[in-house]
Amino acid sequence: MSGSMSRRQAIEAVTTYEVETDGFPEPLADTFGRNVFSLSVMKNRLPKHVFKAVAATIDKGAPLDPTLADYVAVAMKDWAIEKGATHYAHVFYPLTGFTAEKHDSFLEPDSSGASLAEFQGKTLLQGEPDASSFPNGGLRGTFEARGYTGWDVTSPAYILENPNGNTLCIPTIFISWTGEALDKKTPLLRSQQAMSKQAMRVLSLFGHTDIDTVVSYAGAEQEYFLIDRHFFFARPDLMTANRTLLGAKPSKGQEFDDHYFGAIPDRVLAYMIELDRELFKQGIPAKTRHNEVAPGQFELAPVFEKSNLAHDHQQLMMTTMKKVAERYGMVCLLHEKPFAGVNGSGKHVNFSLGNSNQGNLLNPGDTPHENEQFLVFCAAIIRGVHKFGGLLRASIASASNDHRLGANEAPPAIISIFLGDQLADVFDQIAKGGAKESKQTGVLELGVDTLPPLKADAGDRNRTSPFAFTGNRFEFRAPGSNQSIADPMIAINAMLAESLDYVATFLEKQLSEGIEFNSAVQKLLEDIIVEHGKVVFNGNGYSDEWQEEAASRGLLNLRTTVDAMAQLDEPEIKSVMSDYGILSNRELLARKEVVLEQYSLALLVEAKETLEIAKTMILPAANRYQGELAGTAASLKAAGIETDHPVLLALTKSTKDLYAAMLTLESAIDGFHGETVEAEAEYALTSLIPAMTDVRTVADKLETVVADDLWPLPTYHEMLTIL
Ligand code: ADP
Ligand code: MG
Repeated sequence: MSGSMSRRQAIEAVTTYEVETDGFPEPLADTFGRNVFSLSVMKNRLPKHVFKAVAATIDKGAPLDPTLADYVAVAMKDWAIEKGATHYAHVFYPLTGFTAEKHDSFLEPDSSGASLAEFQGKTLLQGEPDASSFPNGGLRGTFEARGYTGWDVTSPAYILENPNGNTLCIPTIFISWTGEALDKKTPLLRSQQAMSKQAMRVLSLFGHTDIDTVVSYAGAEQEYFLIDRHFFFARPDLMTANRTLLGAKPSKGQEFDDHYFGAIPDRVLAYMIELDRELFKQGIPAKTRHNEVAPGQFELAPVFEKSNLAHDHQQLMMTTMKKVAERYGMVCLLHEKPFAGVNGSGKHVNFSLGNSNQGNLLNPGDTPHENEQFLVFCAAIIRGVHKFGGLLRASIASASNDHRLGANEAPPAIISIFLGDQLADVFDQIAKGGAKESKQTGVLELGVDTLPPLKADAGDRNRTSPFAFTGNRFEFRAPGSNQSIADPMIAINAMLAESLDYVATFLEKQLSEGIEFNSAVQKLLEDIIVEHGKVVFNGNGYSDEWQEEAASRGLLNLRTTVDAMAQLDEPEIKSVMSDYGILSNRELLARKEVVLEQYSLALLVEAKETLEIAKTMILPAANRYQGELAGTAASLKAAGIETDHPVLLALTKSTKDLYAAMLTLESAIDGFHGETVEAEAEYALTSLIPAMTDVRTVADKLETVVADDLWPLPTYHEMLTIL
């Protein structure tokens, strides 16, 4: 496939583009949650007993009586129709990581030939999309396509607007007719429940017996690129693979760090403002926006929410980001590495746990060494990250995220944990027999009388750690920008369930043996830090020394998806998932198969596209220029001027190399096979990737040789700086 617009036309279109806006919009505060069937809407519209039951399910995780669904359905339908909805959709999250919707009309014909708006409890509770073409990793054959969606009460319904009519969207889970999870939401909810159960056991040992539930919170910082849509449509690689498969590095890249937190271009700012407004309407608490490190790269961070809701909001946020970009003539690229040699995009998942009685359980207070409960939770996390680093790594594996994790870019594929000065020091003291003090936070004197002193944090940040403590939460920095936060949150909840179970069991046993509580806690902390302290690393995660040091500590360094997914065969990982009711062995295996299938498929598509572009765009450009230079050489010779035509020679050599690399890539594509999904993925890794890389290397060299007016593809410099 070749681009629908030439490079010249694209540049012309971009440089003459003008942003159109509707002028100054209404205040954001009036917009927040306007399209959400929230608790406050329900309170006004539901009978009291129904509202109480629904609220208890949402806030406290209490089971919901299905007979109440009829009341909710009627109220939801009336509200939605008042908001202009004509259809409703069960929204679910299949294993592809995308969001799926099945739309149905509210209207049902009656016997008189008229129609009336119908929406009953049973339609709210359960749907049955034809699910045969969603990947299921062998959980069922296509002949047994039946799958059900089930209403997730804990995530509010909302209205999706369209100029031609609105749709009521109902977040659901998605399972096969045998009850096996075919989505990312079901195990997320299960993992949340498993973690809560064990966390409550621990809290009750600390005397907190009046707690309904412990929830995990997630706040995901989303990085993304924006480029003008004309460039996008002139790049077939962006259109099919969402990343550039070739393209020489610009002479000025991000070396100067002059883009980071710089002034936001007007067009981008207009986009961000409208994006915030759209997100606010859906009740998504967008908060921070700024330029990122690479040119053309930005970040959006919402305020954290309960992880199941944060997940749904994150999915909707990604869809909305793409949609709003179109209105401003841009394309939002969520790929982890759209431009080689330029910083990639991550999605840092910040997480904490808490409940309504005690708030954030990861808040250390001013003197963490005295805060036993905090230390116990923190130790459980350290232990979990050490034991289940492989699971965490597998939870974020994909062909596109491998460009970040396996490569020379943050964070490394080695899963370690950063505690910061203060906490690392407390745990050092514990390992030596007991913590007596906490390093104190300081005050920064600025040397200017008119400036009030600033408060310094107890620990610095570490941008190279995949799993960092940042004051009152942990930040899992390895997830990729395009990924669902479900898998990382499932992995975190799962490791916590197992670790907190260990902690509770340990303490219960000690107490039953008559050991005093504080001594039992000290023993527990000491044991954990001695055995699992290896996973703590406060240094530079990008350095070569760390690769060696991590190996000597026995930490895994899983550079590729193929290596990472093999972790799901580990007995410890299989049993943590099944023992805590998160994923049965069959369900887990299915997930592994889907990830590997998607991996091979993505690479196969990229390989084919690389070949096509080389054949139909790069080689012709090289040949044209060769012809032009040959003509020049002949004329010079005729005029009696002798030169050895160095450019023509270099070009001829590179063209030959390109041709050879294309042949190798072609045969690698033709040879794509594998008896199992693992073997296919291995083939893609070891045959397709190197063959693609070779084509790219020569093509990028040609880009620096071929005359600029003959080069067919928008360059990195053009795409990243013209907005
Ligand atoms: P950074 O300086 O790390 O880039 P940002 O402000 O961009 O910080 O993002 C921090 C993210 O962490 C936000 O999404 C924020 O809501 C989230 N966050 C803050 N506190 C917590 C918490 N207790 N639990 C989970 N997430 C949190
Ligand atoms: Mg940030």
